[in-house]
Amino acid sequence: IIPYSTEIMAVVKANAYGHGIVETSTFLNSIGINNFAVATLEEGIILRENKINGNILILGYTDIQNIEYVIKYDLIQTIVDYDYAKNINSLHLSSKLKCHIKINTGLNRIGENYNNIDKFLEIFKMKNLNILGCFTHLAVANSLDEDDVIFTKKQIENFYTCINHIKSQGYDTGKLHVQNTYGTLNYPELNCDYVRLGVGMYGIYNSDRHIN
Ligand SMILES: *Cc1c(COP(=O)(O)O)cnc(C)c1O
Repeated sequence: IIPYSTEIMAVVKANAYGHGIVETSTFLNSIGINNFAVATLEEGIILRENKINGNILILGYTDIQNIEYVIKYDLIQTIVDYDYAKNINSLHLSSKLKCHIKINTGLNRIGENYNNIDKFLEIFKMKNLNILGCFTHLAVANSLDEDDVIFTKKQIENFYTCINHIKSQGYDTGKLHVQNTYGTLNYPELNCDYVRLGVGMYGIYNSDRHIN
């Protein structure tokens, strides 16, 4: 249902939803999956110590004191907001930090707000950051209630508005990704670089959710 050019980013956080992070990721590597997402630095290190290949994105916050480990284990850090980027940029690092920028498009959890274009442009200028991608998280993509569909479409629009602003200033926004499992099922028309699959990959459908 997704475009051929869209790659799977396998979400293996929380011990691969209880399935065993190493076993699951080793299997996924063997069938050609080379993009992973974890919640924490520790999970990323476990994958590398168990010889998992490919890109590993840490979705959560990594303490500033531990940023050097992200580099050492060739992981990718999520930039959760402007202040976090600024703190990282003030460090003396052994090399640039590979990262993806989280854009908050409606869910008030983590991510710099999509409206703060000036802050995004400043982040893109930071010398310590090697920005390889940008993403957002759809809050209610599982629901097909009218209000939720409107909200999700607004989130998607906000994401691309922000991306286009950044691009128009000459910056490369890298790999773009928006959809989790239900985002993929309910909004398959988005042509992103990755889909972040968690529950859907493990074959667990939440019975009180709607899918197409
Ligand atoms: C957990 C998580 C996912 C995976 O969500 P599923 O609904 O299990 O597919 C995707 N993106 C982010 C940012 C997550 O935290």
